[in-house]
Amino acid sequence: MQKLSLVVLIMFMFNVSHLMAESPALVDKSERYQVREIVRHVMESNDEFVKKLSSNYFTQHIHGQKPIVTMVTCSDSRLHTHALDMHPDGDLFMVRNIGNQVSTTEGSIEYGVRHLHTPVLFIIGHSSCGAVEAAMSKPANLEPSIWRELDTIKVIGDKSDDHVQVKESVESNVNHQVSTALTKYAKEVKEGRLTIIGGVYDFRNDYSQGNGRLVLINVNGETNLSEIHKMPIVNSK
Ligand SMILES: [Zn+2]
Repeated sequence: MQKLSLVVLIMFMFNVSHLMAESPALVDKSERYQVREIVRHVMESNDEFVKKLSSNYFTQHIHGQKPIVTMVTCSDSRLHTHALDMHPDGDLFMVRNIGNQVSTTEGSIEYGVRHLHTPVLFIIGHSSCGAVEAAMSKPANLEPSIWRELDTIKVIGDKSDDHVQVKESVESNVNHQVSTALTKYAKEVKEGRLTIIGGVYDFRNDYSQGNGRLVLINVNGETNLSEIHKMPIVNSK
């Protein structure tokens, strides 16, 4: 009899825990809690940001913008403007997409270059880029919309678990994007109105220059690093 009670008790507990795991109400409550915390995080961050500013801070932004750079970066959450410009407001015309591509956001980039007339177009990839890795390994479970956005990523090899190959593919992709932009904006570059620069934001320290460094790898098609370092626009000495 005691054995039977124990079995019934175990069965009951299993059913209760099973129900708890599956209950839509409980899942919903937990998801709602998570969302509430995320919204609170964003609203508090915005509050902190606004409180730090002087009362006339936004006056400069009300009547238009004059950014200094059109910047194309990957959408990756590990790469953000504060790593590239301490005060990005008004400076950076940001265009972001998976794999920092030119063709998939052609209109946005063109607006920055030809309407806002930024003298620099920066194209920045980053270490361990998931879009580059996907373009290498071609996983079968991706949606058609994502496949279309991987179309113009140029990679080397297919071993997305090999860090050297991923690093080379990130570089290859940045160089390919710079090359696409050089073709499109050939006139602006030739006339000296635009400089197109490719870089890699290196949070993995793949380049042994320290975690989080921006490494310049391409200036108007020049990819020889010692030549780039001699260029007056790069060399501040
Ligand atoms: Zn990426």
